[in-house]
Amino acid sequence: MAAAMPWNARVLTLYPAMFPGPLGQSLAGRALVEGRWSLTAVDIRDFARDKHRTVDDTPCGGGPGMVMRPDVLATAIDETLAGAGSAAAEQPLIYFSPRGRRLDQALVHEVKAAGGATLICGRFEGVDERLLQARPVVEVSLGDFVLSGGEIAAYALIDAVVRLLPGVMGAEESGTEESFADGLLEYPQYTRPQMWEGRAVPEVLLSGHHERIAAWRREMAEKITAERRPDLWERYRRRKPAAKD
Ligand code: SAH
Repeated sequence: MAAAMPWNARVLTLYPAMFPGPLGQSLAGRALVEGRWSLTAVDIRDFARDKHRTVDDTPCGGGPGMVMRPDVLATAIDETLAGAGSAAAEQPLIYFSPRGRRLDQALVHEVKAAGGATLICGRFEGVDERLLQARPVVEVSLGDFVLSGGEIAAYALIDAVVRLLPGVMGAEESGTEESFADGLLEYPQYTRPQMWEGRAVPEVLLSGHHERIAAWRREMAEKITAERRPDLWERYRRRKPAAKD
């Protein structure tokens, strides 16, 4: 087997000590130790040009807060990519921003397939717009809310990618059976005890009848998706005309 390069995240941040942070625990943490992925946390401040290590300045046109300087960030990006090998330049360069494409499982798969990514974590009021034009930056949002920095969005994207890498999850199929894998939300899960506070585990799940169980799970996944996420349900129905109503 050819030794493939592990999936590599390069995170540009003003808070490198936040990494690996929660990604050093549990599934992702074990996979990091095992070398199934690698992480480089780059301190943007190291690329400042003055002795005060300034990375931000006041917004042109006035208004509250500070804006991250394009020159400092561009140097941080260019030097990080120059030091990361030729493949890195072809991999996604992501700036986390509420204005970006909403992070979803399809994007997670794209970023995984690319073999790595460079992730820019904003702080303050964000970054100078010219930086986003001068480098091939893709903006990605965690959702319609405002965080104080991109680091938590970076945790979310990296965590979602890493759990899909080969050998990271216990059962390989847990990546194909879960929510969004087939355009549906997941069916309800149960475990022991069989009776709890007067509530029984659905009979069919105890039947040992694999086909009936699979049919029940699909029916429940469809019902939950139709109720909770009309947007996903519409897309699913359009893609699979056989599975209507
Ligand atoms: N002034 C900006 C918000 C800046 S918040 C605006 O109104 O759009 C500071 C940083 O947090 C941003 O630069 C971005 O990197 C990160 N951030 C905030 N909300 C985010 C979200 N929903 N998704 C991804 N990153 C976010």
